[in-house]
Amino acid sequence: MITASKAKVEPGRLLIDGQWVEGGKTFDTINPATGQVLAPVVEASAQDVDRAVEAARRAFEAGPWPRMPASERGRMIWRLADLVEQNIDELAELETLDNGKPIFESRQVDLPMVVDVLRYYAGWATKIHGETVNTFDTAFTYTQREPVGVVGLILPWNFPLLLASWKLGPALACRNTVVLKPAEQTPLSTLRFGVLALEAGLPPGVLNIVTGGPETGRAIVRHPGIDKIAFTGSTAVGKQIMRGAADTLKRLTLELGGKSPNIVFADSDLDSAVRGAVNGIFYGKGEVCNAGSRLFVERQVRDQFLDKLVVRAQKLQPGDPLDPKTRMGAIVSQEQMNTVLGYIDAGKKEGAQLIAGGKRVSVDGGNGFFIEPTIFGGVRNDMKIAQEEIFGPVLATLSFDDVDQVVELANRSPYGLAAAVWTRDIKKAYQVSRRLRAGTVWINTYGLMDASLPFGGCKSSGFGRELWQAALEHYTEIKTVWLNLG
Ligand code: NAD
Repeated sequence: MITASKAKVEPGRLLIDGQWVEGGKTFDTINPATGQVLAPVVEASAQDVDRAVEAARRAFEAGPWPRMPASERGRMIWRLADLVEQNIDELAELETLDNGKPIFESRQVDLPMVVDVLRYYAGWATKIHGETVNTFDTAFTYTQREPVGVVGLILPWNFPLLLASWKLGPALACRNTVVLKPAEQTPLSTLRFGVLALEAGLPPGVLNIVTGGPETGRAIVRHPGIDKIAFTGSTAVGKQIMRGAADTLKRLTLELGGKSPNIVFADSDLDSAVRGAVNGIFYGKGEVCNAGSRLFVERQVRDQFLDKLVVRAQKLQPGDPLDPKTRMGAIVSQEQMNTVLGYIDAGKKEGAQLIAGGKRVSVDGGNGFFIEPTIFGGVRNDMKIAQEEIFGPVLATLSFDDVDQVVELANRSPYGLAAAVWTRDIKKAYQVSRRLRAGTVWINTYGLMDASLPFGGCKSSGFGRELWQAALEHYTEIKTVWLNLG
């Protein structure tokens, strides 16, 4: 059991076929705020993945799940949402311990969204249908939406349960069964969620949870018993998964990285834009796929804007993630902290001007992985810190002179996940939003999301939209039926 928490989670087990089973090797999951071990977790082997896939396959082919009335399935997903809500403090604490994110974020933002997403898809369970189509007089022709089968979900560490819910909600609503692998850095809340899934009444084998790292992920990707992979993670791993899934022709959705432009015009409400820019990059310690990590400020207000930005960023000092007042937590791991510090060095070497933060700091005299909110001025779009995803609290600021120039610079990126525009000119906002190549554009706000709107990217940010009814497309196959009446 986790000693730092009152949570009821047994980390040294895998959830396979409705049972908590032993695995072989284990690895430690670390609290990034202290550097201390939280618990040993199973590193699922290829044989463990086999067992999980067999259980999911049995549950799909012969179990009650795909055959039960849609309303009953919907009720079960809703019950799971209720249980997440009833256990929200414990789940939030586990995410904060494992990931280092402020408890304010996990308790007030991330976990409530998990509840919303599950309820949204509970509602969809009764609304997944085909169509009748007029063809010939002598035939009755219609389509049916059928489940894809066994789906493998491979998750990142930044929003462990939230991103699981984005996939699990539609997968379950569409009658599939699941093998889910949380990220090796943050398995604990998902394991606790597994306990709640059994309590909600999900039949054995419908949700299987295998913990582990890349090797466990690879075993899922190459497994012939899995029909589809839904992946959220880095672009580099997304490419490997795409190659790995080719041999067995698996269906694939990829939610990958980003380097989202946040564009501030001189005619915007500058104070709102400053708040949006700070939240856009520093929420979640910048370990957010849609972080507004490239800030473009129109030259005539640049100095004034950056002054306000620095003042606001400096108020966000790193603190104990379990303290409800903390707004800047610990970087998820030592490895990620070193990557982020490496980018800060690269920015300095390339000649960008460090105008806030830039250092590792100690919180309460401990050895946690904390970095100050960091802002670079005078960045050029071709610098490494403007082109590569840092995935940490580091903002690259650039300036521009007109609409055409900023649109061109904003789009000159391998990524296309999200973007934002700040202006009081509605026509300009509309026109710029149309020209930006991104899956989401926010106007005069940053980072808002809802289960009833699609989310996903273009270019190297991946393909396939999650949330909204778009996700249902990815978890169903369409069957055409010809009934001969002749
Ligand atoms: P990662 O790609 O390193 O790992 C993601 C998951 O893939 C982990 O569970 C890992 O164990 C597994 N994995 C690693 N190598 C694998 C392989 N070869 N085969 C199969 N599985 C493998 O990503 P991360 O560091 O956990 O997360 C950060 C990345 O996720 C960032 O690039 C971020 O932008 C992206 N992300 C994207 C979105 C989105 O919606 N677009 C959301 C959150 C995070």
